[in-house]
Amino acid sequence: MARFHTDNIVFELTQACNQCCRFCYNYWRDGSTPLPPPSPKTARRTLRRLLSQASVGTISFSGGEPMLLKNIHDLALYARFRGSHVNVLTNGTLLTQDAIDNFASIGIGAIQIPVLSCRKEVHEYLTGLSGSWDKAAGALRRVAEAIPAGACAVLVITKVNAPDVTGTLEMLRNAGARAVMVNRFNIGGMGLKHSEELVLDEATLKKAFAEVEAFAASNPGMHFVSGVCTPLCMMDTAPYPHIKFSWCSTDFSRRPVAVDCMGNVRFCNHSPVTIGNIFEKPLEDILTDPEAIARYAVVPDKCSGCRMLSRCNGGCRAASEQVYGSFAQADPVLEFKGEDCSYSMTGRTEYPR
Ligand code: SF4
Ligand code: SF4
Ligand code: SF4
Repeated sequence: MARFHTDNIVFELTQACNQCCRFCYNYWRDGSTPLPPPSPKTARRTLRRLLSQASVGTISFSGGEPMLLKNIHDLALYARFRGSHVNVLTNGTLLTQDAIDNFASIGIGAIQIPVLSCRKEVHEYLTGLSGSWDKAAGALRRVAEAIPAGACAVLVITKVNAPDVTGTLEMLRNAGARAVMVNRFNIGGMGLKHSEELVLDEATLKKAFAEVEAFAASNPGMHFVSGVCTPLCMMDTAPYPHIKFSWCSTDFSRRPVAVDCMGNVRFCNHSPVTIGNIFEKPLEDILTDPEAIARYAVVPDKCSGCRMLSRCNGGCRAASEQVYGSFAQADPVLEFKGEDCSYSMTGRTEYPR
């Protein structure tokens, strides 16, 4: 019988990480409990179970820090043999030349590495790890040499590094990055503690994306993607045509879901809510469960009647789950906007373009 197919899974190999980023969105990283050490055996068992239940188009190895797993290359090779494209989302500090060469020979699609500023002190303030800037930037350069099309930088824009956006993009281009994932800081995890310091106000957010847009327009050989949905009533995406903004579907067949190393399945890697475990129920049954579908079909009150709902969907509601404990509320970043966001409630029924 054909395996159930899903396009995209984020597989969290471990919760552990050698950095302590101020903005870390992982729900388990709030500093309250010690994290379990990486377990290569557990990760292997879960990956095998996952790929026995489903064919996965693209599987992204994430964490925590996935390079803490000694058997990450074996896991990647196994996923490749099972027909998946494999990406690796790493902070880059443990990415040796041997590790990169092994990934290249396995046919890894992309390696994503966050470089948060062209200024070392800003990057290391945000990551909490001295020496991390040289390592991350060096890893990005080496990936660009070994897997040119797969060198993807990540820039998480916060209030702290927003002044450095253009300088940082120049640095990433010079390091050989072909693609840059440009995400605004999204509230959650350790970032909950630091949200006052990190959340971008509307003007700073728009200025930062205007800088990305200008840079993207003058560097047509690079790709710019923004993966964290921002409420459209906070930032219209129309002025940034050179940035590809992804939208967050609540349809499980069209979205990346997260599976952690214990087999727990979640709406995405930002969501703290487990909707099932693949050791108790096949992935297909978890993703087609009417209760789970109903949970994520709910519309926030303040968004009902908004003409932008089908595109915007209330912004990032995994952040709402982290902040309010509910998917039924709109993105908490709107609280920082300081005014009512609803077009229908303010009488603006046409979205301004
Ligand atoms: S954001 Fe990534 S690198 Fe930073 S602490 Fe979290 S898992 Fe580690
Ligand atoms: S009211 Fe809701 S759906 Fe409409 S733009 Fe704002 S956050 Fe998005
Ligand atoms: S809920 Fe938020 S973090 Fe999750 S996929 Fe959607 S926009 Fe991204």
